[in-house]
Amino acid sequence: MSLNKEEILAQNHSAQPPRLGLVWPILFAVLFFFSVVAAFGISHDTTAEGLEVHRVVEELQLPSHSAQEVVETEASETHKFWREERIQRGDIVSTILVRLGVDDPEATSYLSQARGVRSLYQLRPGRSVRAVTTSEGRLEQLTYLNTNGKRLLVERTPEGFRATEKIPDVEARISQSSGEIATSLFGATDAAGLHENIAIQLADIFSSDIDFNRDLRTGDRFAVVYEANYAHGEFVGVGRVVTAEFTNRGKTYRAVYFENKKGRGGYYTPDGKNVRKAFLRSPLAFSRITSRYTNSRFHPILRKWVAHRGIDYGARTGTPVRATADGWVKFAGRKGSYGKLVTLRHANGYSTRYAHLSRFAKSTRRGKRVSQGQVIGYVGRTGRATGPHLHYEFLANGVHRNPATLALPPGPPITPDLRDEFQSVAAVKLKRLDLLGDTNLALLD
Ligand SMILES: [Zn+2]
Repeated sequence: MSLNKEEILAQNHSAQPPRLGLVWPILFAVLFFFSVVAAFGISHDTTAEGLEVHRVVEELQLPSHSAQEVVETEASETHKFWREERIQRGDIVSTILVRLGVDDPEATSYLSQARGVRSLYQLRPGRSVRAVTTSEGRLEQLTYLNTNGKRLLVERTPEGFRATEKIPDVEARISQSSGEIATSLFGATDAAGLHENIAIQLADIFSSDIDFNRDLRTGDRFAVVYEANYAHGEFVGVGRVVTAEFTNRGKTYRAVYFENKKGRGGYYTPDGKNVRKAFLRSPLAFSRITSRYTNSRFHPILRKWVAHRGIDYGARTGTPVRATADGWVKFAGRKGSYGKLVTLRHANGYSTRYAHLSRFAKSTRRGKRVSQGQVIGYVGRTGRATGPHLHYEFLANGVHRNPATLALPPGPPITPDLRDEFQSVAAVKLKRLDLLGDTNLALLD
């Protein structure tokens, strides 16, 4: 948006323009059209005639990273203005009131003394305070989504100010983003203004196909459609990734979230295959391999050539270790050079071992069920280990295999009874991803 706050406020505070009643609707219309253009990239015939200001105010979605907004709420003679101010580091209530254009001793006194407004004093940078004022700066209404997650509402009533706090209605809006990798996934998502949690989800969704520690290349691309939670128009956090696409070294992977009737959800390819393998590639979320699977290596403690039929991941003591697949605990205890060891049994004759742990997770006991991704223990250096690391073994029918190179079996696909439902849900979700791709092309023009 090209209208900056100073210009807008200058309009407001300077000598009254001669035809105020006309200026504000036009200014508002300009703001509105800029929003539309910014959002959809459609060119418009910018005539202000026939614009219903009231309706537009309600429909205007305040962008989550918006600068300050000044929007007129009434086109009547007593002008009221909606203003929104982002809280900055070091702000106190009085400085925000000044920026909101509040020039109202009664309001200032109330806001500094009333018990009901104390949560206003815990200002969280990045959040917003909104106010409705008259053109003379008289406060009519003030709202703030406070640090307790409640919405504080201060209103002027005929009997004076009144403050109430309510749990806000949180609404999930579908948001989208896309970007290209220059150095790292987090660098790219950061540059796209994407919440860190979405980057983590992205890495997680595609972790069976892409090793985000090693496989990323400059020019890799992502597009993601996700839920963003809003309380009364204000962004309060992100939800789940709905559908996503990742192009790694020229190969494109797509995933759609789908929930079965029992509410158990997962990510699937457009043709209904499970995106995840039955096994995670690595038992640690972020890790570096310090020793690979080999049939012979020089052992640093034994000082001789031995086979290393597992993978070592360097990580700090206490790093959570995840079960790489659904299964049962077959063993959890000390075992010679393995130190503290967990052995899991999985379907179809597979088993996995996690060694040198510092401790076990509470529920890791013989016979207990574990699900993929569940934390079963923590990295340590028990047994024969030179330093803290996880030693991970993968066995198929009792034979050691290299999990880094083995074609891992896929997770369960969409079952035949859900196929039709999945196809129709996926079609809608993938359409959004297609549109997102098209938008990118338009931007490049
Ligand atoms: Zn090892």
